[in-house]
Amino acid sequence: MSDEVVGGWPARRPEPAASAEAVAKSVADGGDAGGERGPAAPSGPGAGRGPAGLRVAVLGGGICGLAAAHRLVRAGARVTLLEGSDQLGGLGTFFPWRDGWVERFYHCVMPSDDDLLGLLGELGLREGVRWRRTRMGMVVDRRHHPFNSALDLLRFTPLTLRERVRFGVVSLLLRRLGRGRDLDRLRTEDWLREVYGDRVWDRLLAPMFGSKFGAAFGDVPALYLWQRLGRESNVSVRGYPEGGYKSVIDALRSSIEDAGGVVRTSAPVHRLTVGAGRALATTADGATTEADRVISTLPLPVLRQVADGDLAGLVPDVELPYQGVVNALFFLKRPLTGHYWAPVVRSGTDFDGVVEMSALAGTFAGRHLVYAMRYTDRASALYREPEGRIAARWTKQLVGLYPDLTSADVDDVRVFKAPFVEPVYPLGYLARQPPVRIAGTPVLLATTAHVYPSVTSWNSGVALANRVVALLDDAARGGSADQRRGGEALADQLLQGGGDPHRG
Ligand SMILES: Cc1cc2nc3c(=O)[nH]c(=O)nc-3n(C[C@H](O)[C@H](O)[C@H](O)COP(=O)(O)OP(=O)(O)OC[C@H]3O[C@@H](n4cnc5c(N)ncnc54)[C@H](O)[C@@H]3O)c2cc1C
Repeated sequence: MSDEVVGGWPARRPEPAASAEAVAKSVADGGDAGGERGPAAPSGPGAGRGPAGLRVAVLGGGICGLAAAHRLVRAGARVTLLEGSDQLGGLGTFFPWRDGWVERFYHCVMPSDDDLLGLLGELGLREGVRWRRTRMGMVVDRRHHPFNSALDLLRFTPLTLRERVRFGVVSLLLRRLGRGRDLDRLRTEDWLREVYGDRVWDRLLAPMFGSKFGAAFGDVPALYLWQRLGRESNVSVRGYPEGGYKSVIDALRSSIEDAGGVVRTSAPVHRLTVGAGRALATTADGATTEADRVISTLPLPVLRQVADGDLAGLVPDVELPYQGVVNALFFLKRPLTGHYWAPVVRSGTDFDGVVEMSALAGTFAGRHLVYAMRYTDRASALYREPEGRIAARWTKQLVGLYPDLTSADVDDVRVFKAPFVEPVYPLGYLARQPPVRIAGTPVLLATTAHVYPSVTSWNSGVALANRVVALLDDAARGGSADQRRGGEALADQLLQGGGDPHRG
């Protein structure tokens, strides 16, 4: 296990070439995301005057909703955040284990997560992020391979020598090869077959990419992969917040409540209606929240279920299939390989990736935390299978995959699922991406369907929250100087429920 701690936080690098390792990670790793940057958050002397007094309901208490609520209360809005589950944090949430709290799903911070790091700075948590160099492995046909250097690639026997060289060279050039091409309309499979060749695609990339997007893997726009490569390089540094992601979630809650905002958990929104420039959110217990503006971070299929009356027909009708995830967390008495991340290809397991979290975050209560995951549709047989059965089968599979591991080394295992993790974007999605605002209503959208071509991540959630709040803030101020130059109509339209030329 690498224990190297990288001091401070890494400086931003110039646009990197994609290493072979970065390509492999980008294809398969659910944790690394694209680097969308939102406009600057409201700050400085003008802050606090924009949406002051405006009643804003934020639906969903994941990172996007929490970041939006945090921004809004600081700008003087009267915020009520409604979260359906009994805990905040959404996909980044946690559960109690022994004397502490552990994330349900593996999470890490990337050095280029500027928006998230900016937020952590505001919360006083940025210096606490612990940065480490992490290493990657590959398990192919049950054999374990390190996958971190040119030498590792040259020794990577699942490919022929010629293929290894081609894989390395193409990976270094991939970002450049994509420039000037309309990758949003090019299938990933077509692009990667073209540049890597059929065998590399069939033997390596297809199983890895398929794990993230299921049957539609080849059809996802190549832009998605290209964008991800923009924030990765062959220096693999990842970060983990001191105290875990719970410390960030707790700090956001305190920030919102200290500034007078209301945070309600166990408050699933069952109905959302609009009328006369206002919105009414009704939760399962029948309580209602009236608001001048709503920011919904709910996945679009969920919003469609709760939108009522006139609003029902106005929710964007873009039909995006979503990948969910099944994820098992093993508490081991010993480490595995020290590789933070290892795709598992053709090895007879139901899971197709293993994240050894302790290689980044250290042990927890003396246990090494290892996540195994499979991205899958929420209607799949695996997704519907009871957690206990998955836990038992995956434990056997994990023990069978790592020769030195025995079932006595497995102290505990927990299985968690999430139905809406990653939209499976269609070709040409840039043109079809819904606006962040539902025209003619006070409802703004900040959902995972709006972060493309970035991968869904905490960083893209914060960036999107910044963007939506800045839009609302500008509108409430009557438009920023820039906007006034561009035409006062925007702010007026937004406040009065007219069209929004800004796309999400
Ligand atoms: C296995 C896995 C690994 C990941 N790894 C990383 C990583 O390493 N780094 C990283 O940055 N990101 C990672 N992510 C992605 C990251 O967790 C998400 O992109 C991010 O949490 C999305 O935040 P969100 O607020 O947009 O949505 P969500 O977190 O989905 O939040 C939406 C919230 O809405 C609530 N809700 C739903 N319906 C209702 C309703 N009717 N009423 C009220 N509330 C409702 C939900 O309970 C939820 O809390 C990972 C995700 C998964 C699943």
